[in-house]
Amino acid sequence: MERLVILGGGESGAGTAILGKQKGYEVFVSDNGKIKETHKDVLTHFGIDWEEGGHSEEKILNANLVMKSPGIPDKVPLVQKLLAMNIPVLSEIEFAARYTKATIIGITGSNGKTTTTMLVHHIMKEAGYSVGMAGNIGDSFAKMVAESSFEYYVLEISSFQLDGINKFKPHIGILTNITPDHLDRYEYDFEKYIASKFRITMNQTAEDYFIYDEDDEVITRHLETHPIKARKLPFSLENDGKQGTFIKDKQFIIKTDQGIMEMRSDSLALEGNHNLKNTMAAITAAKLVGIRKEVIRESIQNFQGAAHRLEKVLKIHHVQYINDSKATNVNATYYALDSMSTPTVWIVGGVDKGNDYKVLMPLVREKVKAIICLGMDNTELKHVFGSVVDIFVETYAMSEAVKVAYKIAERGDTVLLSPACASFDLFKNYEDRGNQFKEAIKNL
Ligand code: ADP
Repeated sequence: MERLVILGGGESGAGTAILGKQKGYEVFVSDNGKIKETHKDVLTHFGIDWEEGGHSEEKILNANLVMKSPGIPDKVPLVQKLLAMNIPVLSEIEFAARYTKATIIGITGSNGKTTTTMLVHHIMKEAGYSVGMAGNIGDSFAKMVAESSFEYYVLEISSFQLDGINKFKPHIGILTNITPDHLDRYEYDFEKYIASKFRITMNQTAEDYFIYDEDDEVITRHLETHPIKARKLPFSLENDGKQGTFIKDKQFIIKTDQGIMEMRSDSLALEGNHNLKNTMAAITAAKLVGIRKEVIRESIQNFQGAAHRLEKVLKIHHVQYINDSKATNVNATYYALDSMSTPTVWIVGGVDKGNDYKVLMPLVREKVKAIICLGMDNTELKHVFGSVVDIFVETYAMSEAVKVAYKIAERGDTVLLSPACASFDLFKNYEDRGNQFKEAIKNL
């Protein structure tokens, strides 16, 4: 019997364990930290051996195959040891993909993965397709493969998942954009992070498709020097081209081998230029899998976006409150500010990953009437914006931030929570931050 060792007992670890067991492996799950009770119950239910609070090498180094959870960096000594022993160390998507014949649409990028994944899934469901959605969203891909039999999967894929593939190949790969993020995992080398994202194309052939943002210079420059085999379908707000998706006179024009489709681009459910891009990526994929124009058009109009992403919360005294707690980097916040069409009271701050806020300056000057900092250390924000806006307030709790915003905002304004930072100084995670924001608004 082949021995499958799983490092990390989180969502992807537990899912892989279930699938591995089902496929006849002897499975062992090892987690350096604590395993959630719900996952322990699942493992025990399936008769899977596990440990937590450390790794027993004697139960790990005898593996035939190792699945490493995305959160564990390669540089961990145990992983180094496994690699030195030539034991294959894979990611969950690599393992799971071996056990399904479904057509895979894989979505990666620095921002917009979840939104685009949900949108593609939504359109395909509306069209009546047998389609599952997995990856960083909800259930793991491995668990879905073990328990369902969809004809299509739409997968949200992080660069960490891509680092652990060797044969994985999406029939349709989408790269939404590339901006510096998670560089701590890539030796602070942006090129390495870019290369990691491009692994989504690594095993694609001329039968497959690669959809990407042509307005993103990081992507186009990389493509110039690193040709790929898949058929390229760019999307762009600025250019027009022979193949891909473009905008002309408020119409989307989608050009593929199967022909040209035109569609109105107004009254979309999701606002902002970034969402226009996400929508273009999604409709290109939808056309490739053969969905009719009417269904696509209707789906992009009635799509309910994901929570915490430019999510409209409430309007109070003609002030709109928007929750963009998921904006944990400057680029995401850039698009949030860019999409504001009223004077904005901006709640920002948290754990700063070495942010360069200056790119936001023109938008702040144009749209932001007040900045409310919400973080333990606001030095950098104060340094950059302190003298740019009339009102600059520092707060240390969500309820306080929202109360201040409420006082400052006037009829017609927007209060935007778009932190550009991680949340761990004052909150459990970005969901907690967004939920506290919504709660505080309801309590006003
Ligand atoms: P991801 O899953 O890649 O983190 P999300 O869809 O969850 O992406 O969005 C994360 C944040 O980035 C949100 O604040 C959202 O408004 C913003 N965002 C979404 N799409 C894009 C895009 N194409 N470019 C830049 N920012 C985006």
